[in-house]
Amino acid sequence: MKEAYARFDIERVMPLHVETVAKNTACRCGEVLRGIVTPHECPLFGKACIPTHAVGPCMVSVEGVCAAWFKYGQGRFVYGK
Ligand code: SF4
Repeated sequence: MKEAYARFDIERVMPLHVETVAKNTACRCGEVLRGIVTPHECPLFGKACIPTHAVGPCMVSVEGVCAAWFKYGQGRFVYGK
Protein backbone atom coordinates (compact mmCIF):
# COMPACT_ATOMS: atom_id res chain seq x y z
CA MET A 1 0.00 0.00 0.00
CA LYS A 2 1.37 3.43 -0.89
CA GLU A 3 2.37 5.73 1.96
CA ALA A 4 -0.37 8.16 0.96
CA TYR A 5 -2.90 5.53 2.00
CA ALA A 6 -1.11 4.29 5.11
CA ARG A 7 -3.88 5.61 7.36
CA PHE A 8 -6.19 3.03 5.76
CA ASP A 9 -3.78 0.17 6.35
CA ILE A 10 -5.39 -1.80 9.16
CA GLU A 11 -2.11 -3.50 10.00
CA ARG A 12 -0.62 -0.09 10.79
CA VAL A 13 -3.70 1.41 12.42
CA MET A 14 -4.43 -1.57 14.65
CA PRO A 15 -1.39 -3.83 14.91
CA LEU A 16 -2.51 -7.29 15.88
CA HIS A 17 -0.48 -10.18 17.17
CA VAL A 18 -2.09 -13.53 16.49
CA GLU A 19 -0.61 -16.36 18.46
CA THR A 20 -0.25 -19.59 16.58
CA VAL A 21 -0.93 -22.87 18.26
CA ALA A 22 0.39 -26.28 17.42
CA LYS A 23 -1.92 -28.45 15.35
CA ASN A 24 -3.34 -31.43 17.17
CA THR A 25 -2.07 -34.18 14.93
CA ALA A 26 -4.64 -36.65 16.24
CA CYS A 27 -7.42 -34.68 14.51
CA ARG A 28 -8.46 -36.47 11.32
CA CYS A 29 -10.59 -33.69 9.84
CA GLY A 30 -8.70 -33.78 6.57
CA GLU A 31 -9.57 -37.42 6.10
CA VAL A 32 -13.14 -36.96 7.35
CA LEU A 33 -13.74 -34.18 4.84
CA ARG A 34 -12.41 -36.34 2.01
CA GLY A 35 -14.60 -39.27 3.03
CA ILE A 36 -11.64 -41.50 3.83
CA VAL A 37 -12.73 -42.08 7.43
CA THR A 38 -15.93 -41.46 9.35
CA PRO A 39 -15.83 -39.22 12.42
CA HIS A 40 -16.02 -42.08 14.91
CA GLU A 41 -12.78 -43.42 13.46
CA CYS A 42 -11.04 -40.40 14.95
CA PRO A 43 -9.64 -41.34 18.37
CA LEU A 44 -10.74 -37.99 19.80
CA PHE A 45 -14.36 -38.14 18.64
CA GLY A 46 -16.79 -38.00 21.56
CA LYS A 47 -13.96 -38.03 24.06
CA ALA A 48 -11.57 -35.10 23.90
CA CYS A 49 -13.49 -33.61 20.98
CA ILE A 50 -17.14 -32.72 21.53
CA PRO A 51 -19.18 -29.75 20.25
CA THR A 52 -18.69 -27.75 23.46
CA HIS A 53 -14.94 -28.46 23.43
CA ALA A 54 -13.94 -28.89 19.82
CA VAL A 55 -10.42 -29.97 19.04
CA GLY A 56 -10.73 -29.81 15.27
CA PRO A 57 -12.63 -27.60 12.84
CA CYS A 58 -15.11 -30.33 11.87
CA MET A 59 -16.57 -30.18 15.36
CA VAL A 60 -16.78 -26.40 15.65
CA SER A 61 -19.82 -25.49 13.59
CA VAL A 62 -23.25 -27.13 13.63
CA GLU A 63 -22.59 -27.72 9.94
CA GLY A 64 -19.36 -29.56 10.64
CA VAL A 65 -19.33 -33.24 9.79
CA CYS A 66 -18.16 -34.36 13.22
CA ALA A 67 -20.60 -32.06 15.02
CA ALA A 68 -23.51 -33.36 12.94
CA TRP A 69 -22.36 -36.93 13.48
CA PHE A 70 -22.16 -36.29 17.23
CA LYS A 71 -25.57 -34.63 17.39
CA TYR A 72 -27.46 -37.12 15.24
CA GLY A 73 -26.45 -40.44 16.69
CA GLN A 74 -22.67 -40.49 16.84
CA GLY A 75 -22.54 -42.73 13.82
CA ARG A 76 -24.75 -45.45 15.27
CA PHE A 77 -27.04 -45.41 12.27
CA VAL A 78 -26.09 -46.40 8.75
CA TYR A 79 -27.17 -44.28 5.85
CA GLY A 80 -29.61 -46.00 3.48
CA LYS A 81 -30.89 -48.55 6.01
S1 SF4 B 1 -13.03 -32.48 14.57
FE1 SF4 B 1 -12.69 -33.68 16.39
S2 SF4 B 1 -13.72 -35.65 16.04
FE2 SF4 B 1 -13.51 -34.60 14.07
S3 SF4 B 1 -11.64 -35.41 13.20
FE3 SF4 B 1 -11.07 -33.52 14.28
S4 SF4 B 1 -10.51 -34.16 16.37
FE4 SF4 B 1 -11.59 -35.85 15.38
